Amino acid sequence: MRMTHAHMYSRFLASDPAWNGRFFTGVLTTGIYCLPSCKARKPRSENVRFFDSCVAARAAGLRPCLKCHPDDFARGADPVLESIETLVDEVRANPGRFKDARSVVRRSGFGTTRCFELFRQHFHATPADLLLRAKIDAARRLLIVRDAPLTDVALEAGFESISVFHEHFRSANGMTPAAYRGLRADGGFAVDLPPGYPLPHLLRTLGRDPQSVTERLTGPVYETAADLDGTPALLRIHFADGSAAVSLDAAAGIGTGQRIAAHRHVVGLLGLDQDAAAFARLARRLGVARLVSGRAGLRLSRTPGAWDGLLWSIIGQQINLRFACVLKRRLVENLGTPLKGGLFSLPAPAAIARLEPAGLRRWQYSSKKAEYLIGAARLIAEGKLDLAALHSMSATRAERTLLAVRGLGPWSVNYLMMRSLGLADCVPIGDTGVTSGLRTLFKLEERPDADATRRLMSVFSPHRSLATAHLWQINKPAP
Ligand SMILES: [Zn+2]
Repeated sequence: MRMTHAHMYSRFLASDPAWNGRFFTGVLTTGIYCLPSCKARKPRSENVRFFDSCVAARAAGLRPCLKCHPDDFARGADPVLESIETLVDEVRANPGRFKDARSVVRRSGFGTTRCFELFRQHFHATPADLLLRAKIDAARRLLIVRDAPLTDVALEAGFESISVFHEHFRSANGMTPAAYRGLRADGGFAVDLPPGYPLPHLLRTLGRDPQSVTERLTGPVYETAADLDGTPALLRIHFADGSAAVSLDAAAGIGTGQRIAAHRHVVGLLGLDQDAAAFARLARRLGVARLVSGRAGLRLSRTPGAWDGLLWSIIGQQINLRFACVLKRRLVENLGTPLKGGLFSLPAPAAIARLEPAGLRRWQYSSKKAEYLIGAARLIAEGKLDLAALHSMSATRAERTLLAVRGLGPWSVNYLMMRSLGLADCVPIGDTGVTSGLRTLFKLEERPDADATRRLMSVFSPHRSLATAHLWQINKPAP
């Protein structure tokens, strides 16, 4: 598809990094060519020409911009991104070495504003949030592998005091550090819901397919198939009194690894690590409190894993929810592993990689959908697409990796980044729930097109994933 001059110019004006590589921008008045994301001053439309490649821009007599380094990008090198990724690796490996966000900024070598902007763009987080998350991850690890007193764990993970450690650990994990250490012992566990958690909204999402064979909601009890550290298991969550009581069942038996994976699963399902309060404050500041009214604590429920999200984002393309549920059910009943209680675990990528498209067409998959699903499953089965690695990648690299998979366009990729990788600043452009939500929220004559959606959503950055979650709810009656 050829993009029009006007469209490319609008992406260039927006400094939209998602368009890097799809075209280069030449500025005739300065003789320089740039990436669409370049933050340099924007020239007028009539002074801009667009090129498919750096070679074409140079052939027209232009020089590469020294600010955005278009040639590095075209070569696949992205030194600025790489330096931020290296820094984040360092923070995650040794959070205790960074006293606070200021020390992260200092280590980056960039100025404060630029460093914050790079963290937001590439990791959808502030340096402080990313550091705090790294400290909590380190504490979780230490609590399981060591018997050291909690004070030592807190200090080693980089917390300045035991009370700060307790407070942050509890809100991110729904349990105390001591209870988390208790995951080493047999039995179930409980995760506390934050005050004001809009449970009815979550239950409506969890129960949206009453015929599902991978999950089932019966009153306050939710059962779901889960892959716990490689073990297909049945996870049972009983919601009562502001808490989620979790029990597990697996033919292969449940150990510490499975309980840790189940805890991670439940935290993601509840969206405990999302900053709902910050988003509600932003909505009020923007004068659109009605976006969060009655559900200020709403979170985006995470899929059990990237594979679930990928399957669902391909199955759900171009069709309505009900039919998508039917297609998923057929796949799972035929290829999944039966668990207790009539539920099935999701088929592994290898099981789908072995199929031919005709096998899926028999279950009413379109030829394209069948091809995309099998193609993606083969990439995973052959080790060419590492889903587990996506979780620690920068958002920018995860997006590039996923966009390279046939059948995953910008909608699916953003859906996956948001719902499976937990990235905070995504917009599934073209999503009808988002466009009709925006129409209601801003009282528009009609649903916004892709460019208008981007523009309207930009005010919610860096919380655009949560904005999406609320927009999905705005036209529905309260549960
Ligand atoms: Zn530039």
